[in-house]
Amino acid sequence: MTIYKRLGIRTVINGNATLTRLGGSIMPPEVVAAMADASKHFVDIIELQKRVGEEIAKLTHNEAAYVSCGAAAALTLSTAACITGLDAAKREKLPLSLPPGRCGFQPHTMKNEVIVHRHGRVGYDFAVRQVGVTFVEIGNENGTTPTELENAITEKTAAIFYFANPGREHLWVSYEEAIAIAKKHDVPLIVDAAAQLPPPENLWRFTQMGADLALFSGGKGLCGPQSSGLIVGKKSLIEAIAFNGPPHPFIGRGMKVGKEEMVGLLAAVEWYLNHDHAELQQSYEEQVTYYEEVFADTQGVTVHRSFPSEAGQPMPRTEIRFDEEHLGITRDEILHQLQTGEPSIDIAGAGANGVLINGQTLMPGEVEIIAQRLKEILGT
Ligand SMILES: *Cc1c(COP(=O)(O)O)cnc(C)c1O
Repeated sequence: MTIYKRLGIRTVINGNATLTRLGGSIMPPEVVAAMADASKHFVDIIELQKRVGEEIAKLTHNEAAYVSCGAAAALTLSTAACITGLDAAKREKLPLSLPPGRCGFQPHTMKNEVIVHRHGRVGYDFAVRQVGVTFVEIGNENGTTPTELENAITEKTAAIFYFANPGREHLWVSYEEAIAIAKKHDVPLIVDAAAQLPPPENLWRFTQMGADLALFSGGKGLCGPQSSGLIVGKKSLIEAIAFNGPPHPFIGRGMKVGKEEMVGLLAAVEWYLNHDHAELQQSYEEQVTYYEEVFADTQGVTVHRSFPSEAGQPMPRTEIRFDEEHLGITRDEILHQLQTGEPSIDIAGAGANGVLINGQTLMPGEVEIIAQRLKEILGT
């Protein structure tokens, strides 16, 4: 009996994505073993974070690395680091509470602005704003000029954040131009690449371009512990991140990273980089072909290859469109029946009458189970 059965919780076949609400990703046995190993002893947690960081930095061709409690915590700690450096008095003032100069308060001397593209904003940017910074937005639906970025920089600018998404980047100042401007004004540029794995090269691509930090979710493409994240980049900033992070009782104290997560993420990075990614891609292509064949003769159902993923990852998914009238069932009803049936299946909707099946989170045998359930629901 699994723990989930004992708790009366249904497990889910995840054909959707590495979604936090479904548990992120499934850790390979190597990662689970590393975590179990780490759980057996007490250890100096600051020293462990440093050593694990050194190992991950080496593996990912970066100057330094840090294991955070998820990518959202990485956003908060990176922001804090850009504001405080290693200044203990500044660290103690976070989160910045009131906007400077308002309500009779003296303008404080700490940096409190972060530059973002208006069309690059995502819900996760709360994790940056929770430090108390103000967003300075640049650009519009027609694009953004390097001059706009340069003009937005003031002596209060703590950082420039990019929320990487290859589907939107044509609206932004290019990484190359932005990095040049950031360097000229000595402002850190940080790339939130939480969901940008695959491709594995992204672990060093942004920092090798000159970004000061890049951050990733540990519980998405890396298949590490769900509550882990990875920050790579400049040593001085990584040190300032550790300075703000747990176990120190400041802004990062509620973002604790266990010894198991640190060691687990290191094992995950090793596993991920040793993985045959071409073979993995090929298996996703084969899944698309499989669904194309299964539904080739089904009236009212069309299957095609969707590429790239919604996060812009170079990863094919299967898109299935339903002729609702012909089939006598709506797409939403299909999704509902998949979710509430046996077993429970979670896949994404696509447009008004389609669904997307993502191979990244499917376990062996589940591709066939989804096809079978779809056939049952469609009565075909
Ligand atoms: C998922 C995601 C995050 C949050 O990552 P967690 O590891 O779940 O905290 C942040 N930014 C982006 C762009 C994401 O896709």
